[in-house]
Amino acid sequence: MQKIAAGNWKMNGLSNSLSEISLLAERHATSDVRILICPPFTVLSKACDLDDRTEIGAQNCHISQSGPHTGEISAQMIAELGATHVIVGHSERRAENGETDAIVLKKSTSVQQEGLTPIVCIGETLDQRENGQTLAIIGAQLDGSLSSEAGKSPIVIAYEPVWAIGTGHVPSMYEIAQVHEFCRCQLKQRFGDTAMSIPLLYGGSVKATNAAEIFALPNVNGALVGGASLKADDFSKIITALEDA
Ligand code: PEP
Repeated sequence: MQKIAAGNWKMNGLSNSLSEISLLAERHATSDVRILICPPFTVLSKACDLDDRTEIGAQNCHISQSGPHTGEISAQMIAELGATHVIVGHSERRAENGETDAIVLKKSTSVQQEGLTPIVCIGETLDQRENGQTLAIIGAQLDGSLSSEAGKSPIVIAYEPVWAIGTGHVPSMYEIAQVHEFCRCQLKQRFGDTAMSIPLLYGGSVKATNAAEIFALPNVNGALVGGASLKADDFSKIITALEDA
């Protein structure tokens, strides 16, 4: 199974941040980990032009490839730049932009149509966890966000409990392992043996201090990292933990 360390820079980073990407590439030149940075759209083109081994992804795309959608960016445009991945269904977009599972499904489909890999984010809120609904929510999001054809092209799933993102709170190792095992079983039921090669990332307050413990869990194939991916020094420690896992 490929190991992936993906950094989501969110609405952070100007051109002068691109040196962080080059630093990562230098430090992990012979790594067996796929290192991916998803910078904001404004520097996506420059990031794709960096001639190094770090892969570049976008944080979002429109459901259509072109048309009258002022201010939007399509998977086709992202592919033309040379990016390899697109994050879809991040909980911040689900909450701030009303993205439903049905929209996430359309986005992940359009990403795959362009030969790119969607990173489909799913995760429960604190209320849902406290009410014992976690697995039901995760199951419904997985069902609703992936088309029946999704397993035929590369795809990545990121489990990101909403309450763990940017908060410093992390589920227990048992809870992470439980959700990842559940995701693997759900994917297997839907896509058969292909599911065994779909990377499952954990996201939500991953830091150098907790990375090794998280990466030691079964069915955790890497991480989607927000805050700790902005500086090469921080992200590099997480990548090293994944290399050692
Ligand atoms: C994220 O936004 O995808 C994320 C996991 O953020 P953080 O690592 O900062 O919690």
